[in-house]
Amino acid sequence: MTKPTLAELAKNLDTGHVSSVELSSALLDKIDSLDGDIGAFLRVDRANIERYAKESDERRAAGKTLSTWDGIPIAIKDNIAVKNQHCSCASKILESFISPYNATVVERLKNAGMIPFGRVNMDEFAMGSSCENSGFNPTRNPRSLDRVPGGSSGGAAAAVAAEMAPAALGSDTGGSIRQPAAFCGVVGVKPTYGRISRFGLVAFASSLDQIGPLTNNVEDSAVLLDIISGHDPKDSTSLKNSATSCANALEDLPSDLKGIRIGIPKEYFEMEGLDADVGASIQDAIDAFKRLGAEMVDVSLPHARYAVAAYYVIATAEASANLARFDGVRYGLRAANPEDIMDVYLRSRGEGFGEEVKRRILLGTFVLSSGYHDAYYLRAQKARTLFRQDFDTAFERCDIMLSPTSPTVAFKLGDRTDDPLKMYLADVFTIAVNLTGGCALSLPTPTPGADGLPVGLQLMAPPMQDEALLRIAGTFEMATNA
Ligand code: GLN
Repeated sequence: MTKPTLAELAKNLDTGHVSSVELSSALLDKIDSLDGDIGAFLRVDRANIERYAKESDERRAAGKTLSTWDGIPIAIKDNIAVKNQHCSCASKILESFISPYNATVVERLKNAGMIPFGRVNMDEFAMGSSCENSGFNPTRNPRSLDRVPGGSSGGAAAAVAAEMAPAALGSDTGGSIRQPAAFCGVVGVKPTYGRISRFGLVAFASSLDQIGPLTNNVEDSAVLLDIISGHDPKDSTSLKNSATSCANALEDLPSDLKGIRIGIPKEYFEMEGLDADVGASIQDAIDAFKRLGAEMVDVSLPHARYAVAAYYVIATAEASANLARFDGVRYGLRAANPEDIMDVYLRSRGEGFGEEVKRRILLGTFVLSSGYHDAYYLRAQKARTLFRQDFDTAFERCDIMLSPTSPTVAFKLGDRTDDPLKMYLADVFTIAVNLTGGCALSLPTPTPGADGLPVGLQLMAPPMQDEALLRIAGTFEMATNA
C-alpha cells in the first residue's frame, strides 16, 4: 500500500472519513508498537496531542473555515522549540529545559491547524551523521534495525519512514536533513538559506542552519515548505520575499524534462569512498533523467574537495560561540553543590555535553583563538567564497546539479563511532550546499543499493530556486514511480 500524501490525509479529514483524533490515536498506537525497537521519539505527550486533535475536530464540527491542513500531526526535531514542551537537542545539558515560546515554524504549523507531534531524536545539538551522538538513545533505521538512520535528523527520518508520523521537520547544517532522508528512503529538503526562519531553532552554526521538511514524497515537502517559509522579523538573516510557492510549482507537472540541463559535477564522482552500489544506483537515475529528455552537462566544482575541511572550521567556530550560553546558569543542567562560579561552568558543561559536542567546542575555540584565527577561520571563509564561485559558475551551464546524497547506504550501528573523520565523510556531498546558501534535496533513487537499502539522489539548485528544484524532482518522482 502506498502511504497517503498530506493532501489525501487532508481530504479524508475534510470528508469525515477519519477524524483528527482517530488519525493521531492510530499514529500513537503505532509508536507504542514500533518505537521500542526504533527509538525515533524522545518524547510523546499523548494527552497534549489528543487535546489538539480534539480541538481540531471540534473546529471542523462547528463549521469553521479551516486551513486545508487542520488536524494533521507533524513530528518535530528536538532542537525546534514548541511552547511548554521539552526542547533538549538530545543533550543531557538541556534534559529538563522546557521552551517558553514557539519557534516561528511551529507558530506557522499551528496557524495552519497542524499538530506538533512528539519530539524526535537527533545527534546532540545536531552534531553527527548517525543519531548515535544522541545523549539519550540511538535511533535505528526502520529499513534495517542494525543500521543507523543517518543524522542528525535521524529520528525525524525514521519516524516518517516507519509511518509513525506523516511528515516531520528537521534541520540541516551540513546534510542533516538530506543524509538521514537518503538512509531511510524518504524525501528531505534543505531550503535556500534565509527562506525559513531560524527563530526558535537552537543554533548550531547560524550561518549554515536551515529548517526543512522530511516527507514521503516531493509534494508533501512542497506543502510544508509553503507553510513554514516566509520573512520573519525575529530572524535577522531571514530574507524578504522568502515565502515559497512550491505547491504551485508542482501543478501540471510535465511528462518529460526536455529543455532541463542537469549538471554532473565531476569531482563528486571521482571522490574516494563512493561505494559501487551507490554509484550504480545514481547512474541508473542519470539514465532515467536522460530518458525523460533532460540534457546532462559535465560541470566542475574544483574546490569541492575542501568543503568538509572548511565546514569543520566554520561550523565548529560558530558552535563554540553559540554553545557558550549553556553555562549552568541560564538553561537546563546545573552541577550540584558547586564550590564557586568557575566550578558551576566547568562541571555543568563537563557533565552536560557529550564527547562529540566537546570535541566541536574545543575545535571551534581553537580555530578562533588568537594566532590561529587567520590560519584557519579566515582561510575557511575564503574557501567558502571559492565554493560559492564554483557553484555560480557551474549553474551558468545547468539548471540543477545532481550527485549522490551520501557515498554509502546506511551503515551499521557502531561502525564509525570510533572514527570521527570517517563519520564526517558521510556528508561530503551535502556540505558544500550549506556553505553556498543554495537549496538541495534528497529523494530515493528508483534502484536500491546494497542489501536492498535505499540510496539518496541529491539535486542542488541556486539560491531561491527551491520551486524549480521541487518541480524537477516532482517530475522525476512521478515518472519513475509509475
Ligand atoms: N553531519 C554534519 C555534522 O556533524 C552535519 C550536521 C548537520 O547538518 N546538523 O556537523
